[in-house]
Amino acid sequence: MSVKDKEMKRIERSVVRLKKSPLYLYRKDNGYKVVIGEGALDAPVVFVGEAPGRKEAETGKPFCGASGRVFNELLTHIKLDRDSVYVTNIVKDRPPANRDPSKAEIELYKPYLIEQIELIQPKVIATLGRHPMSVVIKHFLPETNLLSIGEMHGKLLEVDAKWGRLYIIPLYHPAFTLYNRKNLSVLKKDFIRIKKLLK
Ligand code: URA
Repeated sequence: MSVKDKEMKRIERSVVRLKKSPLYLYRKDNGYKVVIGEGALDAPVVFVGEAPGRKEAETGKPFCGASGRVFNELLTHIKLDRDSVYVTNIVKDRPPANRDPSKAEIELYKPYLIEQIELIQPKVIATLGRHPMSVVIKHFLPETNLLSIGEMHGKLLEVDAKWGRLYIIPLYHPAFTLYNRKNLSVLKKDFIRIKKLLK
């Protein structure tokens, strides 16, 4: 096991033991798993979603339900292998009835996300949805004037990270296409920007 694997396992263990989380008992009562994330620990791109849904909490794998199918389709569109990227969420436990994670939950899980990103040291962070956009941008570029996701999606932000040049690209959440399939073309267009950055 590599040093990075060991570190990621350590982060996962900390979340598994996070008894002060309001979602801890819900996880235990339902036999759910922590969804720490999956993919390459040297991935050039980290995708950050919001929180696991039921399927994700049952399997311990991010984006494996309905949103996951759209996410996979978007990766295929830009010919990116899912194994070559890292996929995670801000909140690592499923909120009941798929409600939005609370502010307190987001704050509680955020340090684990940041540790994961600092471990992987990606060139690109692609945020999926409004909350991940806000968390990632506020952390790496606190001076940014945060606008709505409708205004910010597909725009590149550049960060001088500890490990070098980092690009943040806010994207709509894949579930955005489940209500209206037309939105898929917006996401596909934004995904192409990721591909271009990786060239
Ligand atoms: N939605 C998310 O934000 N994350 C997942 O892992 C699944 C659905």
